Amino acid sequence: MPCHLHSDSFAARRRPATQIGVAPYTAAMSGRPLQVRFVSSASRTHQLPEADREVAFVGRSNVGKSSLINALANQKQLARVSNTPGRTQLINLFEHVGGGTIVDLPGYGYAKVPGHVRKDWGAMIEGYLLEREGLEMVFVLVDGPIGPTPLDVQMLEWLRDNEVPHTVVATKMDKVKSAKRRTRKQQLAAGCMLETGDIVWVSSAKNVNIDQLRGLVVGHLID
Ligand code: GDP
Repeated sequence: MPCHLHSDSFAARRRPATQIGVAPYTAAMSGRPLQVRFVSSASRTHQLPEADREVAFVGRSNVGKSSLINALANQKQLARVSNTPGRTQLINLFEHVGGGTIVDLPGYGYAKVPGHVRKDWGAMIEGYLLEREGLEMVFVLVDGPIGPTPLDVQMLEWLRDNEVPHTVVATKMDKVKSAKRRTRKQQLAAGCMLETGDIVWVSSAKNVNIDQLRGLVVGHLID
């Protein structure tokens, strides 16, 4: 099972909020691409529309976050929306047609960004993760072939310390040769202080385990 850290203290911080994009979710929709629509971008959590049930995606720049969100939705244009210059540094919110919302958090650790901007991003991401009402799950993306970077480990430790529920998703697994996959998985999991079974191993390029992740996402968005 993926790691679902959940605490009463975290749940207690939430207050009821108006859900946007409510529509009945039927079993027939499972396995289908997520139907999502870009709603808005913001630099601070309080600027976002309220959400009842939300999942967020976070990871360092270039980890494959846009590709993964596109694969989940089977929509090439979605990433283009969030990759519009300026938007990548913002919190992007998408409405899921079946109910709930999906948030694409700005990628961290982009080397070319000046220190003060990086600090702002940190504050933005941290503020969102601590303050967002209705946040059900944070999917933390880690590059499969590269493994967790020190920043990824820092992020995971911070999420654990703050009892924010999260699941690690290892991306680009098609780039790891099948002969090396088992060892790579063990190393990556150990680097994240997890077991291999705690992690969702995906490839957006080869559509591996995208259905599995979609199921997890929908499970958190629908009551
Ligand atoms: P983001 O910055 O986290 O949004 O990352 P992108 O989705 O833009 O991907 C960064 C790079 O990794 C791009 O060149 C993608 O084509 C590549 N990439 C993303 N996902 C995969 C994958 O599953 N397999 C492979 N081989 N490459 C991928």
